[in-house]
Amino acid sequence: MSKEKLYIFDTTLRDGAQTQGVDFSIDDKEKIALALDALGVDYIEGGWPGANHTDTEFFQKKLKLKNSKLTAFGMTKRTGRSADNDPGISALINSKAPAICLVGKSWDFHVDVALGISNDENLENISESAKHFVEQKKEFMFDAEHFFDGYKNNPKYALSCLKAAYAQGARWIVLCDTNGGTLPHEISKIVSEVLKQIPGKNLGIHAHNDTGNAVANTLAAVLTGVRQVQGTINGLGERCGNANLMSLIPTFFLKKDFSNKFETNINPNNIKNLTQYSRLLDEILNRKPNKHLPYVGAAAFSHKGGLHVSAVQKDPKTYEHIDPEEVGNTRNIVVSDQSGKSNIISRLKTIGVNIKENDPKIKKLLEEVKDREFIGYSYDGADASFELLARRINGEIPRFISIKEYDVTVKKNFAGKIVSTAKAHLEVDGEKIICEGEGNGPVNALDNAIRNNVDRLAKYSKYLKDLKLVDYKVRILNTGTEAITRVSIESTDSKGKNWFTIGVSTNIIDASFKALVDSLDYKLFKDNAPASI
Ligand SMILES: [Zn+2]
Repeated sequence: MSKEKLYIFDTTLRDGAQTQGVDFSIDDKEKIALALDALGVDYIEGGWPGANHTDTEFFQKKLKLKNSKLTAFGMTKRTGRSADNDPGISALINSKAPAICLVGKSWDFHVDVALGISNDENLENISESAKHFVEQKKEFMFDAEHFFDGYKNNPKYALSCLKAAYAQGARWIVLCDTNGGTLPHEISKIVSEVLKQIPGKNLGIHAHNDTGNAVANTLAAVLTGVRQVQGTINGLGERCGNANLMSLIPTFFLKKDFSNKFETNINPNNIKNLTQYSRLLDEILNRKPNKHLPYVGAAAFSHKGGLHVSAVQKDPKTYEHIDPEEVGNTRNIVVSDQSGKSNIISRLKTIGVNIKENDPKIKKLLEEVKDREFIGYSYDGADASFELLARRINGEIPRFISIKEYDVTVKKNFAGKIVSTAKAHLEVDGEKIICEGEGNGPVNALDNAIRNNVDRLAKYSKYLKDLKLVDYKVRILNTGTEAITRVSIESTDSKGKNWFTIGVSTNIIDASFKALVDSLDYKLFKDNAPASI
């Protein structure tokens, strides 16, 4: 049986850009668009040319896309103007994008309250705009804003909006759950009504996640007959986000009810890069990745607790719905206080550390972990520090940069500004290097001292250039009479890898320093940097 084609439409650069705190530069947009093209999505919605400078300029870039169609977003023409006299519409034509996605109203309440025009005027705006773009030989899509709410309020009118665009030759009619309040069973019901008027091969779904159902709603629409799926990387989007393509794409590939019936343009080899695609967006946004994302999150295949771990060791299927490697993720056996020998061995196997089961080093490592956890370490979320600990015990980590001495001062100056300065005495190949830095706090100053002087770190410069701190967390633990500080650091590099390190001390600077040194050592080890002589 031949499979039906599902079209993937990415709106990270348009709807995703509506997210609070997200402000893509042109470079960011280009990087993301090229990644999406390599992934193989059918459409990349690049933004709204004419609405802001960045988007207008982005469309002038003439990106060479191999797999995807660049799509420009805009709005139906204004009332009282012809389509060829509407500056918004002209900006879309001038963008030279081969595909156009035009949003328009399909909820009579919005037509009345937001636009203040008559229902018929709105229908004319949709129909005239569609006609104009089809005449201009553009692949035209109509985004029916608030379609599901509109349908619930006035089904006849909502459907007439869709038909107004379809009758003019729109390639796609996209049903939008703009407020995100529709539930999966309602989606199925309403889509099956729409199918009586417009064929599924011309229908798309655009779901927002306000009830936590954006992915479920999208799947419901596809199962009912819709053939274009809109979403964003990691579900990026305003409020609770859009449908997450990083959940939808692997579902289409790995779940039989979809994979038996549908095919997409996405190269099957790319499925195992999905985790990387997900982290790439966080890297560009300088955001901490959400560990709990389905399929691609760092915790998606984490196992803690003796019972689960021993079952997973017998057969991972006991607690995993897919093999993490299928989406480029990794199994993670969480090491914690309650971990016994089997946890440690399993964790070592996962990270590829070769120590035999009956080697006394296992016992040594277990004791070390327990001792450290007693004073406040927690290796639950600190993979890289755990790996370093194990490899140090196994004699695999050479000495890279030696840190002989450091010194941090905090000063309040005349202007009342608090400035921290740090000085670190380092040694590489017997050569002494003094690094100084300033920051808004002592830890920041220490970090800057090393990072800003990365060019002076002799043979290690090239390895540490792209290292970045993504997140820094401090917890004060009270054990007995003294306060202990635990610092966790998340780092990343240009390859989009993230790693977590930890430091514990009675002194916050010292705890931070330990976590920072682990982060550097981990990066140097992973990049096969040579030892210091
Ligand atoms: Zn939207």
